[in-house]
Amino acid sequence: MMNPHKDTIIRKAYAKINLGLDVTGRLENGYHLVRMIMQTVGIYDVLTFTAARSGIRISVEGGELPTGEDNLIYRAARLLMEAGGVKEGVDIHLEKHIPIAAGMAGGSSDAAAALLGLNELFALGLSREQLRQLGVCIGADVPYCIMGGTALAEGIGELLTPLTPAPPCGLLVAKPDIQVSTKYVYEQLDAREIGHHPDIDGMRSAIETGDLTGIADRLGNVLETVTMEACPVIGRIKREMMANGAMGSLMSGSGPTVFGIYGSQEQAGAAGDCLRETGLASELFVTEFV
Ligand code: ATP
Repeated sequence: MMNPHKDTIIRKAYAKINLGLDVTGRLENGYHLVRMIMQTVGIYDVLTFTAARSGIRISVEGGELPTGEDNLIYRAARLLMEAGGVKEGVDIHLEKHIPIAAGMAGGSSDAAAALLGLNELFALGLSREQLRQLGVCIGADVPYCIMGGTALAEGIGELLTPLTPAPPCGLLVAKPDIQVSTKYVYEQLDAREIGHHPDIDGMRSAIETGDLTGIADRLGNVLETVTMEACPVIGRIKREMMANGAMGSLMSGSGPTVFGIYGSQEQAGAAGDCLRETGLASELFVTEFV
């Protein structure tokens, strides 16, 4: 059962941002119907999988996270190992870099990396499609995290259409030192009418023609006003990014992480230096689309 050539596998789990996030409805089970433009960015956790005699053991470095069943990595590992009939165990080490509870799908990406990594470690031979089907049982964003890159996500987030890779840019990512509950944000959204829907189709066309200005002009997230009302620091970070040359700036997912798109890495770096001085963000990354 074990891969005869390897007893350790190392995988990167990349964060995502939403260039567009629209909510179009709500299912009876509470899930929201969405249309999202997803983009992988160069911020990643590192997961190391080592074959063991039995059990699933998780160790975490760089963040306060549960190591038992509440960790999405644990749930992914158990699901995959049950599906594949694996009798052995695994030790998983997580080196955490993606901001936690930040709207960057860190947990979902770790779960996706666990499905991919353990499929390889135990030589299970499951297809990407089979892994995506297991992934959606863990979270709506997990199938996208298995695929990565630039994509349109519909349904509850699991219906994926890969898009042309977005054109290169400088990207500044800033997380203020506040916690936001995804559940709270969606509940608040349900209680109000959505006044303005982002132009998801226009965003898709701008991506397909490599039009960075068109992308920056169409950034939109229906959750932003909800989270921003509770956390005004998000608006301050956006204004700071725009004042320092961003082509566009937006909150990612349910927040509170904010990103800014710049013409170059240098510009993003200089804007990052200015933002650091304001003390508005506790975590700052100058990065790029992946
Ligand atoms: P999304 O963008 O999908 O809403 P997020 O970035 O807002 O995700 P995560 O960092 O994925 O949020 O984590 C949200 C919660 O999930 C945290 O409170 C955390 O305790 C829990 N969690 C479980 N496993 C993990 C993991 N491996 N990494 C991060 N969070 C995890």
